[in-house]
Amino acid sequence: MIIEVPNASHYEESGFGYLNLAWTEAISHLLHVNDAKETWWDASADDEDDDAPSEQEQRFWQRVQKHLGQSLSLSVQGTEFLLKGRIARISPYLLIANKVAEWPKQNSDGNIRFADFKTVDAQDLCRLYGAVSENPLDDEFTDLFTQLRRKRNVLVHSVDNSLKLVAKEILVNCLVVSEHLIGQQKWFGVRREYQVSDVEDYEDSCVNCVLGREFGILMEVLEPAQLHRFLGLNKRRRYYRCPSCQGECADWGLRTLSAFFPTKEPGQRELYCFVCEETFDVERSKCLDEECQGDVLYEDDCLTCGETQDKFRW
Ligand SMILES: [Zn+2]
Ligand SMILES: [Zn+2]
Repeated sequence: MIIEVPNASHYEESGFGYLNLAWTEAISHLLHVNDAKETWWDASADDEDDDAPSEQEQRFWQRVQKHLGQSLSLSVQGTEFLLKGRIARISPYLLIANKVAEWPKQNSDGNIRFADFKTVDAQDLCRLYGAVSENPLDDEFTDLFTQLRRKRNVLVHSVDNSLKLVAKEILVNCLVVSEHLIGQQKWFGVRREYQVSDVEDYEDSCVNCVLGREFGILMEVLEPAQLHRFLGLNKRRRYYRCPSCQGECADWGLRTLSAFFPTKEPGQRELYCFVCEETFDVERSKCLDEECQGDVLYEDDCLTCGETQDKFRW
């Protein structure tokens, strides 16, 4: 008998893990660039052309190519595990690649461990899944998976350094993979779960601070259509400071505007934060700072400029 047969969740957990590691690695460099631009990089180098990265930034991205390569490899690994999980949901035995005549020998108890079998090659996973599933994967996903594996192979097996990896693209790849293999707009929730399990190990880290910083990066680097597709967010809507995240993450200098009114009706009072998922009953009245256009207050703080209103009352 075949023993120690993995189930779908075994593969899926590994898939989540690898994809999260890939994401953490890629986004960490974007966070670093953001911090560097705000604090220690020479800002005057950036001014000439807003869109083009400064020489400093280009040098930085050149230096971290190896890390981005590792991130890309991790994302491919994660995708393979998630695909195997999908197949294992139907039957894990589908993943066995050996012909019956070539199966590994039974051990003394007459059993064969699942791990002793050769499993289906990564390049055949989409085809296999397509043949046994009622919802085969679409071309966008299969093309992306092929492309990612090719890039990974170039990195692993070649001395050709012409491949230029971009952190934002790795993030978008993770988002596409997540949409197809985890579910629509599920990625931010996956990140939350991953951070929560992390915090159990490192008590001084704060889930909302990490997520808040990542949210800020995503708002900055993703196109409006991508934000809408992958996170369900409208980039053109007005965003406010979240009373809870601002307080909780004060030490992190978090200035992300992560709260918004879910509908467009004027005078709304229920402000929702995408990062901590809390809703706040806010006061709608004009901020007392004449330079501020804000009209959303919470416990005497303006959620647009962040100033406490008491400061303007004397
Ligand atoms: Zn919040
Ligand atoms: Zn204000």
